[in-house]
Amino acid sequence: MDCLFCAIVAGDIPSRQVYADAAAVAFLDINPWKRGHTLVIPRRHVDDLLAADEALTEIAAAINATARLLVDRLGADGVNLLSSAGAVAGQEVFHLHVHLVPRYADDPGLRAVTDRVAGIDLDEVAAALAGAGSSGGAGR
Ligand code: 5GP
Ligand code: ZN
Repeated sequence: MDCLFCAIVAGDIPSRQVYADAAAVAFLDINPWKRGHTLVIPRRHVDDLLAADEALTEIAAAINATARLLVDRLGADGVNLLSSAGAVAGQEVFHLHVHLVPRYADDPGLRAVTDRVAGIDLDEVAAALAGAGSSGGAGR
């Protein structure tokens, strides 16, 4: 199967990984909405949250740990959690992923969640998050 996120799990395509456990991997989104925008995905291929009843449950611990990491390490004041199922919902990569979007006091509100902020240095963010359940590494 030709799946971008399966290739990231396999290490065939590099990513800035911030957390990993037996079931899930979390890595920085390559085109972040906010500083620290992270994708949490199951290691196994599942198209979306409608495709397998247990898939979201399997990555729940990773979602919690990564959200905590974003708050503790980046000083986020809050977090949005979003997962799109189906092209009509805006899904572009068809391997289940949960967007974890750190939110900061100077850029509040649900409507602003996908408004990108300029000048995010992904390597700087990865360095700030390195070392906690992480295998680190530069990449996409
Ligand atoms: P969707 O629109 O499917 O919910 O989100 C897909 C996300 O994957 C987008 O936010 C996009 O920026 C991110 N993305 C696409 N290709 C890559 C990639 O090669 N590496 C990383 N780290 N993120 C990617
Ligand atoms: Zn996949």
